[in-house]
Amino acid sequence: MDAVERAAALREYAEQTASCTKCALSAGRTQVVFGSGSPDADLVFVGEAPGFHEDQQGVPFVGQAGKLLDRLLEGIGLTRADVFVANVLKCRPPGNRDPQPEEIAACEPHLFRQIELLEPVLVATLGNFATKLLSGRPAGITRVRGTPQEHRIGGRAVLVMPLFHPAAGLRTPRVAQTLREDFERIPDLLSRPAPETPPVEEAGTPAFAAEAASDAEADQLDLFG
Ligand code: SF4
Repeated sequence: MDAVERAAALREYAEQTASCTKCALSAGRTQVVFGSGSPDADLVFVGEAPGFHEDQQGVPFVGQAGKLLDRLLEGIGLTRADVFVANVLKCRPPGNRDPQPEEIAACEPHLFRQIELLEPVLVATLGNFATKLLSGRPAGITRVRGTPQEHRIGGRAVLVMPLFHPAAGLRTPRVAQTLREDFERIPDLLSRPAPETPPVEEAGTPAFAAEAASDAEADQLDLFG
């Protein structure tokens, strides 16, 4: 797919997703927050779910955590226009509560389709939910952050870089410093040749989504894992 075709396909998928009612979150949302950024991005960030401001504005990461994400990007010479940013859930959970297993199971096809269309070199997962879903493994973010992994997503081999959620960086200076250090590794990861042999296991099976969510429920999905 060339750049024009990719942009058109993403736009069309966003239009389809805008009316999604596959889970109960459709009832309380202002709008679906599909994701934003460059359709040609080599780097895709995946967070958890829209919050109040994201639900109002229709754009992911526009609050304080988003501002930290912008500063982290600036630190490695990038802006939002160079990347694509999305979430595991496209609609805001009431009161910003944790995503539920059935919500993740309902919404994950949207994320996997986005990644399939974007064909990124690197997917940076922000926090526990995105990391567990896209890695297909239950290990918490504290254990796996900063260690790139190869996974098969949408039928392609993709490098996944688990990172702390920026909201955790806002709470704890040590985490913010770790985020800065992990971000500094991103340019090198982007310059690597794309993984060639897709691992057999595809991320994001419904069974895994349920496991990830229940595991996350158990630890209240604290952002540190
Ligand atoms: S959260 Fe996802 S699955 Fe649920 S209604 Fe929104 S777009 Fe659809």
